Amino acid sequence: MRRITSIHEMRELSRRCRTQGARIGLVPTMGALHEGHLSLVRAAKAKSDVVAVSIFVNPTQFGPNEDFARYPRNLEKDCELLQEQKVDFVFAPAAEDMYPKEESGSVTWVNLEGLSDRLCGKSRPGHFRGVATIVAKLFNIVEPDIAFFGQKDAAQVAVIKRMVRDLNMPVEIEVCPIVRESDGLALSSRNAYLSPDERKMALVLHAALQRAQKLFDEGERDAAKIVHETKKAFVWQPAVKLDYFEIVDPDTLEPIATINKRSLVAVAAFVGNTRLIDNILLEP
Ligand code: AMP
Repeated sequence: MRRITSIHEMRELSRRCRTQGARIGLVPTMGALHEGHLSLVRAAKAKSDVVAVSIFVNPTQFGPNEDFARYPRNLEKDCELLQEQKVDFVFAPAAEDMYPKEESGSVTWVNLEGLSDRLCGKSRPGHFRGVATIVAKLFNIVEPDIAFFGQKDAAQVAVIKRMVRDLNMPVEIEVCPIVRESDGLALSSRNAYLSPDERKMALVLHAALQRAQKLFDEGERDAAKIVHETKKAFVWQPAVKLDYFEIVDPDTLEPIATINKRSLVAVAAFVGNTRLIDNILLEP
């Protein structure tokens, strides 16, 4: 496994592999790796000849009052895990190289009008602009044939797929299922922030989604009714502050009134100070 920090070196190595006929898979991450990330790595290993994992805590996707400074970072441990998975390249660039200071203050963003303001984009202004911009940069540096993302970040998946389509990027997007703890909590690097009590309270997200699934399975198709019923789970957990609980189209993230097509039930909530997200797909 080769550790790379230089943008130029990453691009050169990737190009060299491609000219030899290799199919390049990229797994973009912010590090603090867990089984969710490793599931993407395994998928990448299965579907590509050469696997690059990027580790970069991207400052532009964090709001001014968010957890950028304290976001968990452990490059050595991450590299050990990736070595075990026999990853070919770990690309961990420096922030100054990814975002060099520009005297004039001018900057290029990838902004998805409309989509960027939905779900997490509503409560985290600028978040998806930061995500789309860094992923576009990583695609331009690594030039992968295929890139792997987790369904855990369902709105991010919608944004990336749309960006690739709108900007004619020559990369295939593969979406991998959510990996959960045995009690249902979706794995997240931010789970490390939770106290033991908060860890228990965090289960309300999964419980609410399961309730939505049950109502749907019993025949309910009115999205507003499902949301109304399901949100009740949060009343019993006053220490959990619901940010949103919505049923939307998984591609446009527009709200859905009647569930007569594949629909995304997405939830975000603060458990103490920790913002967690989760979702399920309802398939009529
Ligand atoms: P992050 O490091 O949080 O930016 O995540 C990097 C990638 O891993 C994203 O595509 C996430 O959707 C994916 N991911 C994070 N948690 C999970 C999970 N529990 N299951 C599946 N994929 C995940």
